[in-house]
Amino acid sequence: SDPLLEVEDLTIRYETDGGDLTAVSGASFSIDDGEFFGLAGESGSGKSTTAKAIIGGLDDNGRVDGGTIRYRGEEIQDFTEKQLNKQLRWKEISWIPQSSMNSLDPLQRVSEQAAEIGRVHTDLSNEAIREKLKEMFAVVGLQESRIDDYPHQFSGGMQQRAIIALALFLEPSLVIADEPTTALDVIMQDQIFKYLDRMKDDAETSLLLITHDISVIFESCDSVAIMHASQIAERGSTEAVHDNPRHPYAFMFKEAFPDIREPDRDLEVIDGYPPELIGEVTACSFADRCPWAVEECRESAPPLDPVGDDDATHAASCFRADEAYELYEKHGA
Ligand code: ATP
Ligand code: MG
Repeated sequence: SDPLLEVEDLTIRYETDGGDLTAVSGASFSIDDGEFFGLAGESGSGKSTTAKAIIGGLDDNGRVDGGTIRYRGEEIQDFTEKQLNKQLRWKEISWIPQSSMNSLDPLQRVSEQAAEIGRVHTDLSNEAIREKLKEMFAVVGLQESRIDDYPHQFSGGMQQRAIIALALFLEPSLVIADEPTTALDVIMQDQIFKYLDRMKDDAETSLLLITHDISVIFESCDSVAIMHASQIAERGSTEAVHDNPRHPYAFMFKEAFPDIREPDRDLEVIDGYPPELIGEVTACSFADRCPWAVEECRESAPPLDPVGDDDATHAASCFRADEAYELYEKHGA
């Protein structure tokens, strides 16, 4: 059957004073029903832009400039606001934005915002909607009685929890969570992940989890894609990418984070900076930082190709992916 979400060869550009900026270049990945998919990569690599394109929330100067986004087999990249609101948002795909602290409507009580979402997207009675919202408030550690509060009555962290409650209370099929845990303490993070795990088991809920912290993804996701400067460097099952990385950036990125499976390893820092994203992509975006780059890497951008192991989704955009094992061995992996 079709994957729930299928992103194919997606390119996204922003119009800027300095020219077009390519924030996402040729990205491909898919998410199945009940799959937890992690999108990792350092700041500015294009993670949030990818999420915004899926939910139709690109900034005004941004546009999908190539490729397709399919949801349950239907192309959605050209959906109008009306279609997005009617067919996708909240009930099918919900979005916990990166700076979600400011995304509540300041003029409405949280319960009123929930009522409006429920009215548009479900046949539920107002009372049923209130009950669902109360349940979710409990999950995110807010008192049920506070559903009738205005956003300004909450602290920043509590506002983010209220947003998470709104994103989850209609039990959407796909939850997009962009750095959802930055304002939450560890206990709250655990509680929300446990709840998502239950949704995954009960309703085959899928998760697109965005974070720069790959260790969170290795612990909680089935699959992962690692982005570097607009390109997906590597993608595959968590196991394949963790145990057998084929792209130098994936390998080095992984080494930069602590890992409960390898507690004694030294943490490596990746030198250098990603390239400017203005203009056409004409080289591997990692070439300037890569200890193994060869001429070819500077002459064209390597395609995201399958690496040909047991995991059919495992792919890397590196001309030297086949040599990875030897290369990293010498590096001391
Ligand atoms: P972070 O980890 O910091 O959240 P990210 O991976 O989510 O980073 P994006 O926010 O997707 O990165 O940004 C990708 C690139 O697009 C960056 O170079 C960023 O500066 C640029 N960008 C994002 N939004 C806009 C915009 N509205 N106009 C111009 N450039 C933008
Ligand atoms: Mg971001």
